[in-house]
Amino acid sequence: MNLLSIKNLSKNFGGIKALIDVNIELKKGSLTGLIGPNGAGKSTVFNMITGIYPPSSGTITFNGVNITTKPYKNTKLGIARTFQNIRLFKNLTVLDNVKIPEHLHVEYGILSSFLQGPKYLKGEKAEDNEAIELLKIFNLDKFKMNLAKNLPYGEQRKLEIARALATKPLLLLLDEPAAGMNPQETKELLDTVKFVRDKFNITVFLIEHDMSFVMELCEDIYVMDYGEIIAHGTPDEIKRNPKVIAAYLGE
Ligand code: ADP
Ligand code: MG
Repeated sequence: MNLLSIKNLSKNFGGIKALIDVNIELKKGSLTGLIGPNGAGKSTVFNMITGIYPPSSGTITFNGVNITTKPYKNTKLGIARTFQNIRLFKNLTVLDNVKIPEHLHVEYGILSSFLQGPKYLKGEKAEDNEAIELLKIFNLDKFKMNLAKNLPYGEQRKLEIARALATKPLLLLLDEPAAGMNPQETKELLDTVKFVRDKFNITVFLIEHDMSFVMELCEDIYVMDYGEIIAHGTPDEIKRNPKVIAAYLGE
């Protein structure tokens, strides 16, 4: 069974057809890319999955559950995301940014926490340790008492991913995580995303404008243009696809 299954998804914003009959399947544990020119509809796909807007038609099934009309509930089910424009709690510390979503998870999972031994009884210290372990993966532990707004841009992007992971998702959605990063930061991010997928055994779906980043990272790639999926395949298949070449040259 696929973790996420999107069938015939369409979305209109007034007269704009942002998505037209989109079909996407994510295998459990896969690292899948979604690419395409600006305005193609990539972020709208994420907004549908996370329930920010309802689709005009089509269905979204996550982990066997129909989530098409479950707005705002999808974090609970195990979907976490980052945004194209950074959305951190800028006036909180780096540590608190990753602790707040953990609380969220605890509240959501009272029953499961109880069955596994209540996590919220482990106390502040244990919770801090867990948050710090997460920050270490991103080399952010040294900034733990800094305010999020004072971090350099590339570090803020990493903190957003750490924060999404703190909700312990099954599916991690990354919207242009490398945007604005320099080549060195981009390379590090690539390695970190791979590491995180393996360590937490999660499924990653990532939007990226930078073709080479996606080609290097993803096993499976969907290409969008003007609201439609115009190609789907392995990096090699995508590179050779004439429709993809035309969409990128035509930008
Ligand atoms: P991408 O992420 O591929 O750059 P988007 O999904 O952000 O593209 O946008 C796809 C199209 O849908 C664009 O034409 C955009 O202007 C439009 N769109 C996206 N969100 C909204 C919205 N909330 N209201 C109106 N139009 C929107
Ligand atoms: Mg976008």
